[in-house]
Amino acid sequence: MPSIEIVEVSPRDGLQSEQARLTTAEKVELIGLAVAAGARRVEAASFVNPKRVPQMADAEEVMRQLPRSAGLSYIGLALNERGAERAIAAGCDEVNFVVVASDTFSRRNQGATIAETLDRWRRVAAVAKAAGRRTSVTIAAAFGCPFEGEVGLDQVTSIAESLIEGESAPDEIALADSIGVGVPPQVTAAFEAVRQVAPAAKLRGHFHNTRNTGLANAFAAQAAGAQALDASLGGIGGCPFAPAATGNIPTEDLVYLLERSGVDTGLDLQRGIAAAQWLGGKLGKRVPGMLEKAGPFPAAA
Ligand code: ZN
Repeated sequence: MPSIEIVEVSPRDGLQSEQARLTTAEKVELIGLAVAAGARRVEAASFVNPKRVPQMADAEEVMRQLPRSAGLSYIGLALNERGAERAIAAGCDEVNFVVVASDTFSRRNQGATIAETLDRWRRVAAVAKAAGRRTSVTIAAAFGCPFEGEVGLDQVTSIAESLIEGESAPDEIALADSIGVGVPPQVTAAFEAVRQVAPAAKLRGHFHNTRNTGLANAFAAQAAGAQALDASLGGIGGCPFAPAATGNIPTEDLVYLLERSGVDTGLDLQRGIAAAQWLGGKLGKRVPGMLEKAGPFPAAA
């Protein structure tokens, strides 16, 4: 049976864009629910300036309280060396870094051009690799930019080529549709092209459901050979640069789609649905995911 890894990103990408704040204890409980549902990789926190992202100010404390077991990997987002050092000190198993595929979005989001961000990556990679941590780089806005419009595939492949140069090649490259504009043929072409230029890297997909194409894009990425997909319980989240953005694709909806299509995810659908409902309760709203409303099929005995 083919299989794919689902990376649970609700604790970071999801919560970061929600109005309601979860307490540290609630974040730890959320991650515990995801792990109990079968998640083996979880984006647990970001180690960025807490003045810029106050939702993540308790990153160290969250990490300290998390359940640990063999094969369970926590990812910390870091955008510079200082962040990488914090993530490592806090016990993150993996360090994720972001390069934005358009210069305008990059300057707004990272305060740096693409070229400057790639230089930063080399320093972050050196820190993470010296500490023996796994590394991944997300190429954000890989399918379209809120400021510049279309993003060419040659732009994405040239960033991938720069990333893998020399000593700093990441273990994994993610292609992210940060503003939810991509469609499946674009996804297929992008994964095939990046596979060509970076054959040694694992590939991961990160999709937002802003225009309701997120699950179709995830399925296309899987079919094109992506080894991992990001998803968020309940489909929570958004994007500060896309006012009407909905969140990441819902973990439980993705599990339903893939498992019914014969792709093993290692996740338990019922537990995923229960976790999404719990999360909606904490956020004080109905989450965007469909499975927590419709339920699985066939209905569980
Ligand atoms: Zn995202």
